[in-house]
Amino acid sequence: MSLLSVDEARARILSHFQAVETETLPFVECATRVLAEDIAATTELPPFDNSSMDGFAIRAADVANATDTSPRSLRVIADIPAGASPTISLTSGDAARIMTGAPVPDGADAVVPVENTDFNNRDAGSVAPESVMINKSVHHGENIRPRGMDIRAGEVVLHKGRLLKPQDLGLLAMLGYANISVYRKARVALFSSGNELLEVGAPLESGKIRDSNSYTLAALIEEAGAEVSRLGVAKDDRESVKSLLDKAVDHNVDLILSSAGVSVGAFDFVKEVIEANGKMDFWRVNMRPGKPLAFGEYKNIPFIGLPGNPVSAFVGFEVFVRGVIGTLNGMYNGGRRKVRVRCAEQIDSDGRESYLRAQVNEEDGALVAHLTGHQGSGNLHSLVQANALLIIPAGVKCVPAGQEVNAWLI
Ligand code: AMP
Ligand code: MG
Repeated sequence: MSLLSVDEARARILSHFQAVETETLPFVECATRVLAEDIAATTELPPFDNSSMDGFAIRAADVANATDTSPRSLRVIADIPAGASPTISLTSGDAARIMTGAPVPDGADAVVPVENTDFNNRDAGSVAPESVMINKSVHHGENIRPRGMDIRAGEVVLHKGRLLKPQDLGLLAMLGYANISVYRKARVALFSSGNELLEVGAPLESGKIRDSNSYTLAALIEEAGAEVSRLGVAKDDRESVKSLLDKAVDHNVDLILSSAGVSVGAFDFVKEVIEANGKMDFWRVNMRPGKPLAFGEYKNIPFIGLPGNPVSAFVGFEVFVRGVIGTLNGMYNGGRRKVRVRCAEQIDSDGRESYLRAQVNEEDGALVAHLTGHQGSGNLHSLVQANALLIIPAGVKCVPAGQEVNAWLI
């Protein structure tokens, strides 16, 4: 077993994955899906010159000298609510009452907000006046949102590989994209292994603990954008491990993920069963927590075996599996946000690339990290208390207080 750097292990794993196939779906079903096509604007946005204020469309030259003490009177020749399609044309001395979002009529080149006029009836249904006094000048183009100011026709506004956000759905709607091409969601089968593991509902027994990894990892898989098939717990024997692996195959998944049974001294039936039907490597990765990692293939489906300790399993997911799901899902963005944080206290490390649990708070405008409790790989409580994983690079044995390091916000 060679000692791999985190980057080497991650690159080796990722080289085995590519995006899953695509499907065409109604765009309303595509929140949190990944786009499989570039989206180009079908029209300019906004599609027509429109008013950004409730007020009066006018010709700026007509009101160039208008002030409170010397207002300018204009004849109101039309009333243009949002949704209207005006056919009139303004000439010098004309105004048209206009609402926000309504098309600016021909001949007008600016909008005077209603508060800069003597007309202050803003009630719904109020009738437009016959004339209006303008008491403030406006610039040419003021309060008009010109056609195409936001988006030009043909411009690519959303790129293939983008994880769609709520505002993207709004833009797709504006552009009239009823159906879009997206990647299907990756499917991941998940099981825990170990004779010591009990179901959540079971009372504790001597020597036993409740399975927690199944739940943490299933939620992480879903949060990362994949569908999860929870297959339960494999006993430490061949038949049990094989039956769960075969169930994973039946579910036609893109990845099989398990926890435990990969550390030295574990009953490694997982390795034996997988090797009889594929291949498996055990790696020692130069990281903490979570040094042991298994990677292989069972009946042509990629397999990743994370360590059993709950924090190691979590960190292993973040370091190795989140990126795999992103790749399967066709994603170019996404992943945990990396930030620079200042260590509140000195941190001693053992030279492995370390992922430490910390609470990051804003203090005097800076992000400051405090380690949360005991950093042992079985201590789930300190992970629950953390909102970040500090990343101490390989080779570093001491980070002095006040120094900055990278962190993932979790
Ligand atoms: P192993 O990798 O099998 O040597 O397990 C390492 C440690 O993780 C042991 O203390 C196990 O009891 C614990 N462990 C393994 N699987 C789970 C699980 N699903 N939930 C909670 N703890 C686990
Ligand atoms: Mg075990």
